[in-house]
Formats: sequence, C-alpha cells, structure tokens
Amino acid sequence: MADLSIQQITKEFPTRGQPLVVLRGCSLELSRGESLAILGPSGSGKSTLLQIVGTLDRPTSGEVMLAGQQPFSLSERKLAAFRNQQIGFVFQDHHLLPQCSVLENVLLPTLAGGGATGEAFDRARMLLDRVGLSERLEHRPAELSGGERQRTAIARAVICQPVLLLADEPTGNLDRSTASVIGDLLLELQRQEQTMLIVVTHSLELAGRFQRQVELDGGRLVGLPGRSASLTG
Ligand code: ADP
Ligand code: MG
Repeated sequence: MADLSIQQITKEFPTRGQPLVVLRGCSLELSRGESLAILGPSGSGKSTLLQIVGTLDRPTSGEVMLAGQQPFSLSERKLAAFRNQQIGFVFQDHHLLPQCSVLENVLLPTLAGGGATGEAFDRARMLLDRVGLSERLEHRPAELSGGERQRTAIARAVICQPVLLLADEPTGNLDRSTASVIGDLLLELQRQEQTMLIVVTHSLELAGRFQRQVELDGGRLVGLPGRSASLTG
C-alpha cells in the first residue's frame, strides 16, 4: 500500500459570488523513497494542493491518507503533533526565525516533543554537516547567503525524520547554480532518509531529476507526455 494516498481532492474558496474552484479531483499515490515534481503555471493551485497534502489546509472534499493515518480525522492538537512528526516543509522563502542561530532553527521542530535532547543536537549537527553548514552553526539567518538559508531550512525540515518532505518552489529565489545545488541536496537527503519528496517547481531542469513528474492543469493532475507518472482515480 502507498505511504501517501490522496483521492479525489477538491478545493473551493468562497467568494462573494460563485466559489472559486481551484482543485477539481486530484488523486495520486506515493511510496517511501519516491520523489515527485509538480509543475504547472502560476495560479494553477500547486501551493493549495501542497498545503492540503501537508495537512495545513483542509480539502473541500476527498481523502488524504499518510503513514496509515487519515490526518483530517484527528483533533487539531493531534493533527499538529502528527504534522510535526511526519511532515517536513521547505518554502520558497526560508521562514527561519531571525533571532535564532542556524543550529537553534534546525532544532526548533524538536521542541514540541519537550525540549531538545542530546540526540536531537547530534542529529542537527550531523544534518548541518551534510548540507555543508558545519562552519555556520552560530550564524543568524541575516548573516547567511540565500542558498545557506535554504540549506538550513532543509536540515530543519528533516530533523524529526518525517515520512514526507514537501517543498514549494524551494529554488524560486535562488540563482541557477545555487538552485541546482539545493535541488541536489533535497534529492540526496530524500534518498538517505528514505522519505517521500514532493516538490512544486517551475524549473523543468529540477523536475527532470525527480522519479516522477505531474502537472496541475485545470484543477487536475496529469502525467507529462513521455514520463512515467502513475496517477490513480
Ligand atoms: P500556485 O501555487 O499554482 O501559483 P495557488 O495554489 O497559490 O497557485 O493559488 C491557486 C488559486 O487559488 C489562485 O487563483 C489563488 O488566487 C486562489 N487562492 C489561493 N489561496 C486562496 C485563499 N486562501 N482564498 C481564496 N483564494 C485563494
Ligand atoms: Mg504557489
């Protein structure tokens, strides 16, 4: 069975007139160790879909199943804990806390479990080493380059060993060569940690490095011609 399954997701936003229908029945399945790129023009609903897969927003209808759980059937408190444990996020804008050091930012998601343990410190240092930042542990985000901030955000996203890593245009604010390095890092960590990785991107070059590619078109997910996207539903 797939570790992530979304079935017939729809999403409407209320407006003063007719509701705005953004997703019209999106289905897909992903298993541990798989990577998927979602392409599509601006405004096609990519971020909306990623927010739903990431349990940050509820679908209007449809099912999400992750790691054997139906997250939207949980109470808000349990859902927050589930999300913190199982899902890592990397956004276009890094969302790091400016007053915290690189090391502290990476440790933040572990605090929900009741304070950073020695084990969490070790893992944070190991991850920061893997993303090439062992010399920057005490830097604040303002003292880093854009690429270094995104590396920090990636280490933070995987600190709790999520089953699902989500990235919304993670290279959108970076120059081409930095973007390429960040893409490599995401895929490398995904393989090492055997997570599922879903990335929304405008970059065909980045998307081409993923095992599977789909496009959001008219509120539906479609496989790209010549690519092996297995969609369901
Ligand atoms: P993308 O990430 O592909 O650029 P989005 O998912 O951000 O697209 O947005 C898809 C459409 O949904 C857009 O037309 C946007 O205006 C609309 N939208 C997104 N979020 C909301 C919201 N919270 N309320 C109303 N409309 C929204
Ligand atoms: Mg978006």
